[in-house]
Amino acid sequence: MEQSHLAALEDFLKNHPGIKCTLPSSPQYLADRKVFILSRKANPLAIAHPETAEQVSVLVQFLRSNGIKFTVRAGGHHLLGFSIEEGALTIDMRAFASVDIAANRETATVGAGILQHELCNALWDKGLATPTGAIPSVGYLGWAMYGGYGPFSSHWGLGVDQIVAATLVDASGAIVRADDTLLKAVRGAGGAFGIIIDVSIKVYHLKSLLTGAIFYDSQEISKTFMDYNAKYQEISKHGLPKQLTLQQMVVNGPPGRVFCVSFMWSSESIEEGYHWCNKIACLGTVIMNTVEVTTIPKWYSGNAALIPSTMYGSFRTHSVKDMTQEVTGCIGRALEKLPADPGTMFSIHQLRDTSETPASASVFSTREPHFMLEIVGCATTTEKAETSEQWAFDTWAEVKNTNSSNLLDHVYISLDHVEYPCDLHTLTRYFGDYAQDILTTKKDYDPENVFGLTVPRLGNLL
Ligand SMILES: Cc1cc2nc3c(=O)[nH]c(=O)nc-3n(C[C@H](O)[C@H](O)[C@H](O)COP(=O)(O)OP(=O)(O)OC[C@H]3O[C@@H](n4cnc5c(N)ncnc54)[C@H](O)[C@@H]3O)c2cc1C
Repeated sequence: MEQSHLAALEDFLKNHPGIKCTLPSSPQYLADRKVFILSRKANPLAIAHPETAEQVSVLVQFLRSNGIKFTVRAGGHHLLGFSIEEGALTIDMRAFASVDIAANRETATVGAGILQHELCNALWDKGLATPTGAIPSVGYLGWAMYGGYGPFSSHWGLGVDQIVAATLVDASGAIVRADDTLLKAVRGAGGAFGIIIDVSIKVYHLKSLLTGAIFYDSQEISKTFMDYNAKYQEISKHGLPKQLTLQQMVVNGPPGRVFCVSFMWSSESIEEGYHWCNKIACLGTVIMNTVEVTTIPKWYSGNAALIPSTMYGSFRTHSVKDMTQEVTGCIGRALEKLPADPGTMFSIHQLRDTSETPASASVFSTREPHFMLEIVGCATTTEKAETSEQWAFDTWAEVKNTNSSNLLDHVYISLDHVEYPCDLHTLTRYFGDYAQDILTTKKDYDPENVFGLTVPRLGNLL
């Protein structure tokens, strides 16, 4: 760790006593550097906890003029642990957790450090909802601004398309409202252009919810998975209501490896929801069905138990046009070998025809209907992580060998396992033709790459 940087930071803090900061000498330091992926071992310079936009602004000016690198953290769930970096200051945004609903109840302005369940619980109290992911502890903005797939995607669209305005601290340290160019780039390429203080997002009226998981007999997991997908394709041909979002999952539960479908019916027409629940239940032999009328806060507290709060290992992803027999066969064989750790799992998000939920001006490029595969090569202990990561890699490699015309060229940045720095090929894999737009915006708004350690890291390409 650069001692001169630490000394400069200590001096700065003396002059700005209102800015809370955890220094390496603090007993709190180890707890404060924690991120979801425990494999990330980096020791940050310190962890700053600003509470106002003005504090973020003076921090950026200080860091820039002293050549000190920094990362930004909200929920800490980046899959490579990029919100901490060796020797760089971590700017922790968790204090920014406000929710301010507009008088017309169509939008809300939310602090950039809010977690998914905090946002949804606050909206639910007011009879409102917005798309989020299923895991409560993930940072809302980190989820939304890079894409944001989740159980409300079919109904209201992706997270990225909910963002209608943003306030950020730019490379000069000024607190600015994002103009159209910046807003477009934030929608998909997130934090590469500034530290976001808050965003205004679309919200929707919702007073009841039918949700839960349908568990299928998984003694022959490959067959269960393939049969479900074949039958699902049949019923999808006749059209599915947009209020219905389904996420296939394979998890290691107490009785062992099991295939289940997370069922979300985000509408008040509960009878129709039960009709669809029964239809989906008929796609296999059900051993347990937890679908019930519930509330978002209860749903989130149940989900907290679904996944360990920290894990070792890494994720892999592909996006495919269709769950063809070749793809389901290949995944089915991989599922037979799924390592038996609660952290190792597999899941599929589907982006259906979104013509009714128009896309915003963004740099998120994967707009055609597709299935996004989440191959979770994680484990609860460091010893088991190697086996899980190998399984995830092998599964990913097998799918990569399937018919190339069914594999999308673009992959989801938030779930990809990429070695940084980012080259143009990688940037194009994430953003397609928008890669050039992102670089142009970066050169215009952050030519010195002040935000060099946020996601995506573009320093190599400037
Ligand atoms: C268990 C788990 C489940 C997941 N499930 C889903 C899912 O269902 N759907 C999905 O789409 N994704 C999912 N993801 C991926 C997740 O959405 C991304 O990793 C997301 O970026 C995490 O956000 P965070 O705030 O928790 O992470 P952090 O690590 O805190 O932030 C990630 C990055 O975002 C940037 N950033 C954060 N806040 C700011 C800010 N205020 N200003 C500028 N830059 C900022 C920084 O570059 C930071 O490195 C999941 C990840 C995990 C670990």
